[in-house]
Amino acid sequence: MPDQSPPPSLPPGSTIGILGGGQLGRMLALAAAELGLRAHIYAPEETSPAAEVASAATRAAYDDEAALIAFADTVDVVTYEFENVPGETARILSEHAPVRPGAKALMTSQDRLDEKNFLNALGIATAPFAAVDTLDDLKTALEKLGTPAVLKTRRLGYDGKGQVKIDQPDAAAAAFDAIAGAPAILEGFMPFEKEVSVIAARAQDGTSAAYDVGENVHRDHILHTTTVPAVIDPAIADNARAIAERIAHGLDYVGVIGVEFFVLNDGKQQTLCVNEFAPRVHNSGHWTSDACSVSQFEQHIRAVAGWPLGDPTRHCDAVMTNLIGTEVDDWQAHAHVSDRAIHLYGKHDARPGRKMGHITDLIHGFTKSE
Ligand code: AMP
Repeated sequence: MPDQSPPPSLPPGSTIGILGGGQLGRMLALAAAELGLRAHIYAPEETSPAAEVASAATRAAYDDEAALIAFADTVDVVTYEFENVPGETARILSEHAPVRPGAKALMTSQDRLDEKNFLNALGIATAPFAAVDTLDDLKTALEKLGTPAVLKTRRLGYDGKGQVKIDQPDAAAAAFDAIAGAPAILEGFMPFEKEVSVIAARAQDGTSAAYDVGENVHRDHILHTTTVPAVIDPAIADNARAIAERIAHGLDYVGVIGVEFFVLNDGKQQTLCVNEFAPRVHNSGHWTSDACSVSQFEQHIRAVAGWPLGDPTRHCDAVMTNLIGTEVDDWQAHAHVSDRAIHLYGKHDARPGRKMGHITDLIHGFTKSE
């Protein structure tokens, strides 16, 4: 007989260890505090937005084995706010504390080739792709996939970094140089109508939940706005949420996952393909802090702490706008606007392209998305 008993929940007073000191770690730490839990941040930076609001902080490198063990021994579970946690770091930690989401999610999401193969094996559509290790591979892949196409490093790419669009086959060598010959994949360019994302969660007992679909607009490769609900066919919205939950189940996932999609439209109907997923809370889910009773941050803490998932129902429409670089200087003007929630991350240096905060406008009325 399988064990029918519910998984143990960490009681209030327990400590959640969080790798990474950015704004996502900060909002996770705040959500933990709301549930009577403590957060211990592990990050190499001297000051971090997350450490500022946490009960404890360790400043050490991700390859400092002694510091990792000391950290793991003081926490009840380890989670992370960025997906490029080195595999060795996760392995060391997992010998001393449970790490959630687990190794499968981390490994799969760190490599674009593994990620696409995993998705296709689940029957989930992605852009057509080919592995590229050499310039010859790239030329062959371009013959197969045609142009335009996008060359992306397999590892360590984010916000458009580590990727080059190739418009003509004779641009292959320059593109290969631009990614310094790193292991890569070539993706067919998807002429998408829009980009949407789903924030889903899976609990330790295997139950899952997905928030409504958000529609994302990027500027300079950085998320600019997320609008909820996305204006898409209701059946497509249902499908996007179901796909996100299928991915979570396929990864034996525990926690919140962000899944990004391209919406294609051939003039007759919309279809979906997955661009990528992130094994963590996601910028395009920030609207949940103000438009839902349980935010993505609380949902993640609930899941990794073995609590039941909260209800992801949205109680109004919302538009989240990132404040990038000096846009944060307008905080006072934002503070005059009613139904506008302001979230500032406490970062001191408003460098260009840096996420300094976000605002969420709550829209009166409610558009049913299904
Ligand atoms: P990524 O780092 O893979 O999320 O890509 C960043 C952005 O580049 C995406 O949000 C899209 O706007 C664009 N992009 C990435 N891959 C493709 C593709 N295969 N076809 C069209 N646009 C893409």
